[in-house]
Amino acid sequence: MLPVATGPSSFEGSGKVTGETLLKIREDLGECTRCKLHKTRNKIVFGDGSAKAQLVFVGEGPGADEDAQGLPFVGRAGKLLTQMIEAMGLQRGDVYICNVVKCRPPGNRQPEKDEVDACSPYLFRQLDALQPKAIVCLGATAAQTLLQTNRSISQFRGQWLDFRGFKMMPTYHPAYLLRNPAAKSDVWKDLQKVMAELGLEVKRNKAK
Ligand code: SF4
Repeated sequence: MLPVATGPSSFEGSGKVTGETLLKIREDLGECTRCKLHKTRNKIVFGDGSAKAQLVFVGEGPGADEDAQGLPFVGRAGKLLTQMIEAMGLQRGDVYICNVVKCRPPGNRQPEKDEVDACSPYLFRQLDALQPKAIVCLGATAAQTLLQTNRSISQFRGQWLDFRGFKMMPTYHPAYLLRNPAAKSDVWKDLQKVMAELGLEVKRNKAK
């Protein structure tokens, strides 16, 4: 179990909104029509998990299963993410999971720039509200959005980077791992760095 997070009042960064809550952000988002993805979505996938999570996973956007259920990472890639979380010695309820865009891009295409620009401010507000000890970016879209870069994720995967004062670890998306199982060892190395940052016991969890 992760240690209990401190509240927003303890936040010492600059340029960020304090006193935010996930509920307030969800209310502000409403039945959002700020980008064209609203036309084809079934359900907004806001995010799921503990409001006190010290670890946040950020993916790209909802797929078909997520769009139907209104929850992030519930399809095949989601099952793999759950296994990754449990391999770290955690449960899904210990962490928070969300995406760069909250509505499904048609045909699971990558979100376009105008869609990311419209939706990402809500992601940033979620991260500010959560105040996590570590953020894991799952795949290029999440990492490039937080870093504001077009560089390939292969150039910075596995390195601790800074996102507005938060420690951010870019790694591969579980959907990529389903297509390229050989990359799982790289992701496990990245997750071990996250475990060390969170004070989780690598040795105990490797045995699982
Ligand atoms: S993707 Fe984000 S900005 Fe676009 S309609 Fe959905 S919630 Fe609104």
